[in-house]
Amino acid sequence: HTLDPVDINHLLDDILVQLPHQVDMTDVTIERDYDMQAPQLSGDAGQLRQVFVNLLLNAVEAMSGKGVLHLSTTVRGDTISVAIADDGPGMKPEHADRIFDPFFTTKKQGTGLGLSVSYGIVQHHGGTITVSTAPEQGTTFTVSLPFDRRQH
Ligand code: ADP
Ligand code: MG
Repeated sequence: HTLDPVDINHLLDDILVQLPHQVDMTDVTIERDYDMQAPQLSGDAGQLRQVFVNLLLNAVEAMSGKGVLHLSTTVRGDTISVAIADDGPGMKPEHADRIFDPFFTTKKQGTGLGLSVSYGIVQHHGGTITVSTAPEQGTTFTVSLPFDRRQH
């Protein structure tokens, strides 16, 4: 397990540049609302990248490549929260309850591993990942990660 300095705003922007190579985003509008005071945190840069790639790919897939994707970062106390909100179809409660289970998928070609792996990575970093969703209400995932204030 490696510890790298990770700038979350920069990481998100870097993923947003790469994402159109993986999924059609021509009709996706991206709104960014970043907290410019966000400090770096110590973590595994590759693993944290995987978490946000998984969440962003899921969001774009849920929107079927068209809609508004809203990304925000917020510093509260010694935690940085990243919210990824899509205006896709949302989820039924009985699905939302199972999305972090390994192999749960509603997609023909899905592995159902993205969210369970992401959950483990975030937990390993001392953080939390939560979801707010309802049918036809879109979906927001929030990842909260602690940073060590003593370094700043
Ligand atoms: P996969 O993408 O391979 O299906 P994931 O673990 O990434 O596996 O996601 C599990 C399931 O959670 C998806 O199949 C989908 O039903 C649901 N899901 C995840 N993100 C969203 C989202 N943003 N909007 C609606 N449903 C979602
Ligand atoms: Mg996925």
